[in-house]
Amino acid sequence: MMRFLVFTVFLISFVGLCFYGCGNPETETDASRRPAGFSAVVTPDPVIRFDLFWDSLVVDSGVISENQTLSHLLDGFGISAGKVATLAANSRSVYDVRNMRAGKKWWVGAERDSSEIPVVLIYERNELDYVVFSLKERLEARLGSYPVDTISRLVKGEIKTSLYVDFERLGVPTNLAVAMAGVYAWTIDFTHVQKGDKFEAYYTRKTVNGKEVGMPTILYCSFNHHGVDLPAYRFDQGDGPDYFDPQGASLRKAFLKSPVAFSRISSSFNKKRFHPVLKKVKAHLGTDYAAASGTPILAVGDGVISKSSYTSGNGKYVKIRHNNTYETQYLHMSKRLVSVGDRVKQGQTIGLVGSTGLATGPHVCFRFWKNGEQVDHRKEKFPPSTPVRDDAMDAFAQEVVRLVKEGGE
Ligand SMILES: [Zn+2]
Repeated sequence: MMRFLVFTVFLISFVGLCFYGCGNPETETDASRRPAGFSAVVTPDPVIRFDLFWDSLVVDSGVISENQTLSHLLDGFGISAGKVATLAANSRSVYDVRNMRAGKKWWVGAERDSSEIPVVLIYERNELDYVVFSLKERLEARLGSYPVDTISRLVKGEIKTSLYVDFERLGVPTNLAVAMAGVYAWTIDFTHVQKGDKFEAYYTRKTVNGKEVGMPTILYCSFNHHGVDLPAYRFDQGDGPDYFDPQGASLRKAFLKSPVAFSRISSSFNKKRFHPVLKKVKAHLGTDYAAASGTPILAVGDGVISKSSYTSGNGKYVKIRHNNTYETQYLHMSKRLVSVGDRVKQGQTIGLVGSTGLATGPHVCFRFWKNGEQVDHRKEKFPPSTPVRDDAMDAFAQEVVRLVKEGGE
């Protein structure tokens, strides 16, 4: 460890000297400005990798092969099993060598001037972190991480196929599509975006060794869906970052608690209900709201009508797709007021209460679908949809201006 410390201290002073003493190398090689006798040769900066003087080493490298242990690997460099056992034991508190995995990169370095006896092993744990094992007198390990940079980028385009495919075509990380679908999970069904929809996203992403890693963070984005702009800005008002529209409303939307304004629950979601018409135990995968015939039935959230139909059991019914996750269904209507493909707003009347199909009296059987499965909506925990608080509106407005300016719009 001492050796590494010495190297590091030396490195810092060297960099420091160079910073203040060397000036711009291009200027120094400019013969017209150079005093007579001044050497034109500029010593290149030493290559530093893993906080080591990389140039001073002869390096072999590879990836850990299947079932290869540290002992197997180092045996190939003439390091005894006994030494490896000591190294593993000394390193345990820093890194347990049994965690080394096939497919990960390694480098073994030997000093140039010393009959190539290995002095160091570097094992890359992941895109960001590595372990440096000293193979010299002191057999031990230290952890290191590559420097992380953050890039920011603005991407704009138009849907030609799908968000995912179009991002790929534009050379944009495809997990930006995932991030964007997350921002709009409550407003846009990305499986139904259409040609000509426009998108824009300003995001940051971490880079390590020139490679982008991890999920992008969207700072602001906009999606023009059916000719309507839906801008979203990232803002943290103290309880974690969230996305808001320009008015400070959350992009997440709460569903209405019930599809009928004045009603009572006549039968709850129950997987073992005795069916009043069929006279047998049958799962009731909905919640019944009893109300007078002809009472308006309301869409509990924005969405697109995916079904408006009739079956002998359901009677006249309507189904709404709200987003990738949620759909709702309304049964036993006396009248349907929407057609497949219609876009509906939260609170819009989509039909009237009735008793068509298998029903003993006028009611709405309300069914809530999550990822294709019927669930009890009254037991679901929906994310909060808190808007920007009044006392945070100024800060939010400033942040919107800053983000748009920074994004270079
Ligand atoms: Zn029901």
